[in-house]
Amino acid sequence: MHWSLAIAEDIVKRRGEKKQVVATGITPSGDIHVGNLREIIIGDTVHSALADKGVDARLIYVADTFDPLRRRYPFLPEEYKTQVGKPISEIPDPFGCHSSYAEHFLQPFLDSLDKLGIELDIFKADEMYKSGQYVDVIKEAILRRDDLARILTDISGRQLPEKWSPFSPLCDACGRITAAIVTDCDMKKEEVSYECECGNRGIASFKGGGKLAWRVDWAARWKILGVTIEPFGKDHAAPGGSFESGQRISTEIYNYEAPYPIPFEHILLKTKEGEGRKAKITAMSSSMGTNIPVHTILETVPPEILRYVISRVKPDKHIEFNPSLPLLHLIDEYEREVGGIGKGVVAKIPFRHLLTLVQIARGDPAKLLEVTIRSGYEVSERAEDLEELRKKASYAENWLQKYAPASIKFALQADLPIEELKSLSEAQKKVLTLMAQELKEGTNLSAADWHDKIYALASETDMDVKEIFKAIYIALLKKPSGPRAGWLLASQNIEFLRNRFEAAGGETRN
Ligand SMILES: [Zn+2]
Ligand SMILES: [Zn+2]
Repeated sequence: MHWSLAIAEDIVKRRGEKKQVVATGITPSGDIHVGNLREIIIGDTVHSALADKGVDARLIYVADTFDPLRRRYPFLPEEYKTQVGKPISEIPDPFGCHSSYAEHFLQPFLDSLDKLGIELDIFKADEMYKSGQYVDVIKEAILRRDDLARILTDISGRQLPEKWSPFSPLCDACGRITAAIVTDCDMKKEEVSYECECGNRGIASFKGGGKLAWRVDWAARWKILGVTIEPFGKDHAAPGGSFESGQRISTEIYNYEAPYPIPFEHILLKTKEGEGRKAKITAMSSSMGTNIPVHTILETVPPEILRYVISRVKPDKHIEFNPSLPLLHLIDEYEREVGGIGKGVVAKIPFRHLLTLVQIARGDPAKLLEVTIRSGYEVSERAEDLEELRKKASYAENWLQKYAPASIKFALQADLPIEELKSLSEAQKKVLTLMAQELKEGTNLSAADWHDKIYALASETDMDVKEIFKAIYIALLKKPSGPRAGWLLASQNIEFLRNRFEAAGGETRN
């Protein structure tokens, strides 16, 4: 049974078949990366499992757009020092292309979710605060300030400052949401008075004039949105962590049952070996530069594969994400066990075969169509088919360029590789000549036909079949290994192959 079904069953057992709200959420303070995506994929997978069981369920995503900028990250310009402490919804886009800092990082991520086929309802925290959705929970928090402080101290073991308030006012002079202390409250007017580090004194409304401390905010949000299930990184689940405080705040302050928790492990990124660099495994982190943004990885990995990579692993196991050869093995597994990548006839082309085709076509779309059809995949000239082929081919090309090991890469040689052919034995040369003689104009061999033909030749000539493969690769690719020979040969023009094998067999006879 898939882990998500087991979780869905457990939820129904514990909570009954009432309406479920699965919540996910990420702060868009930098590129949202593959590690962050796990939360959404887990939420989406559990949401689907619940729907399959006939449970009325909804998937939501809350973007923490009202969170302050914690520090000037390395990717930010020097002058962004002065933005630290302001809510990211209120800071200008450092790259100048969106309406705010938060939108700049949120929008590409939402586009990626669209590509991944994940449908969810989006909430932006700054809009929730500004629209007044938080007013009641803020009032409750301020009234129960002492109880909240006691719970937080109990759980974290830390004493809170004497003037601590669960509400952090947004200073109307310096724009920071991290620097003011509450000096007075007016429950009727739904506002507080504050004094800021910058010297400003002002009034902050419960409606967008500030936000709840984040541990309180998390629990308050459960109540506002009716959250019943929430996946989150395992760090929050540690004893004394934010989920434990959230649970108590939820039940003791808000009289609301805390959601069913789904803690999950990290995704670890395995980086490529390079000059003087060993392959290494690191946790994905935006600030350490060891992340791959979701929108970037989606240029290289088809969305169904990215979903598969993440959803196949139980949440409590970490995922080692190695975008090189291991990713290709996972693609093979997906095609074997789940289905093809893409739509229509294009979905039938194995990804590995496409890696061969794009390396033969070398960026020429007409050539790609030609070799694809020649290798037995009847892609029509209809716009949808061509677009599907283009899309899938661009994944293959990008993967080859970014992550493929040398063993997968090859270049079909336009000229006879004279030097390399000298390494062939007499027997190998003879087989190439034999192959050339058998190829007549109009010969049409599929990949499987080619495969059979090579094995037949091996037994006829009493040669090790590996030696024949090697001779073929050297003659065509100038190296002793290459992609599956059947695919490589089936995608070639017969005339070209006949001339090449004839010349290679003759060349080596001297
Ligand atoms: Zn932008
Ligand atoms: Zn201020």
